Amino acid sequence: MRNSIKLLAVLSPMLAAAGLAGATLLAPAAPAHSQSLGDIMGAGKKIVQAATVSDEQIVAYFGQMSDEMDRQNPLAPAKNPYAVRLAKLTQGLDSYDGLNLDIKAYLVNEVNAFAMGDGTVRVYSGLMDKMNDDEVRCVIGHEIGHVKLEHGHKRLRRALQQDAALSVAGTASGGVRQLANSELGGLVQNVMYAQHSQAAETQSDDYALQFMAARGYNREACATAMDKLAALGGGGGIALLQTHPNPAARAKRMRKQIK
Ligand SMILES: [Zn+2]
Repeated sequence: MRNSIKLLAVLSPMLAAAGLAGATLLAPAAPAHSQSLGDIMGAGKKIVQAATVSDEQIVAYFGQMSDEMDRQNPLAPAKNPYAVRLAKLTQGLDSYDGLNLDIKAYLVNEVNAFAMGDGTVRVYSGLMDKMNDDEVRCVIGHEIGHVKLEHGHKRLRRALQQDAALSVAGTASGGVRQLANSELGGLVQNVMYAQHSQAAETQSDDYALQFMAARGYNREACATAMDKLAALGGGGGIALLQTHPNPAARAKRMRKQIK
């Protein structure tokens, strides 16, 4: 098992400095007098072109980001106990709500999980150690919510719009360029490790509760999963808490809805 503290240690200062999703991709504005009108027009043109990146292209870039994450983290082999448990508790979830899903475990001792806009869902072994099956399912349901509601789509589109070099990726003959690992690493940091808005998180929590009900899982597990995150939060360093709102408040809100 590998611990990914090193990666987080690199990411955290960047996130702290950025404060906002995608902020690190924003180049400091150059003084107006140093820019020719042509430069300004050119920059404007790129933004307009990037805005036309299709949903299919966005999904393709998410696919590349998923591949990059799988290169950086050890996937549990099919016969590994974590993979076996995850396959069992997500049986019948190859697709859900019109999405094709690819749910796998990382052998990383970290309380974390994420989803990409292409339907990739990864659950870290450290989270699986702390949570029972239905609690893991609720976390997965929440992540599927982010995919279905396209929360990441908007952030990736924004990242592509804000970075001149990346904006070219979406415009070349309407195709999809294979991004370099360094470019993908930057996108992962700015799109995946950034916080969703409070509204997006609330929507995903609601989605998770609906997901649990639709699948016949125990909805109370959503609240107890949040309780566990809240209990873990004291010492800090819980990856899922760095990207998500206060779990105690989320537990309270979910319990109200379950009643
Ligand atoms: Zn979330």
